[in-house]
Amino acid sequence: MTHYDPSNIFAKILRGEIPSHKIYEDEQTLAFMDIMPMVDGHCLVVPKQGSRGLLDADAAVLARLMPIVQKVAKAAVAATGADGFQLRQYNEAAGGQTVFHLHFHILPMKEGVLVGAHTGKMADLAKLAEMAKRISAAL
Ligand code: 5GP
Repeated sequence: MTHYDPSNIFAKILRGEIPSHKIYEDEQTLAFMDIMPMVDGHCLVVPKQGSRGLLDADAAVLARLMPIVQKVAKAAVAATGADGFQLRQYNEAAGGQTVFHLHFHILPMKEGVLVGAHTGKMADLAKLAEMAKRISAAL
């Protein structure tokens, strides 16, 4: 593991340098749509304080983050009509991480439908905007 690099894409989103489809924001947290979704309603929750992953995060940051993860997951499940969800959190390249700013994936799941790994396929941005609105409204 190396240091936290503030030039990562989520740090740029947090600084407003690149756009995102926001669902929720407070002083410490941002939730937004994943731009290459694995499923409908795939969203990300990130703390504003920078850390590469779970191991170098402040415990206090995690304590504030988890209730928001719960809130956004509940809204994402409601907005998509999912039967359940997965919470994924990858650490370091060996653990599947590609953006080195701590984040939690929320993946709404339908009964009997398996979800693989990253698709690398860009979402339809109009659909993503609509989904962000629906999840946000369900908060
Ligand atoms: P990781 O493998 O690091 O846990 O996942 C990073 C996630 O960030 C991937 O699911 C990827 O689709 C998403 N992602 C990468 N670049 C961007 C971006 O510019 N905007 C948004 N909203 N998501 C991104």
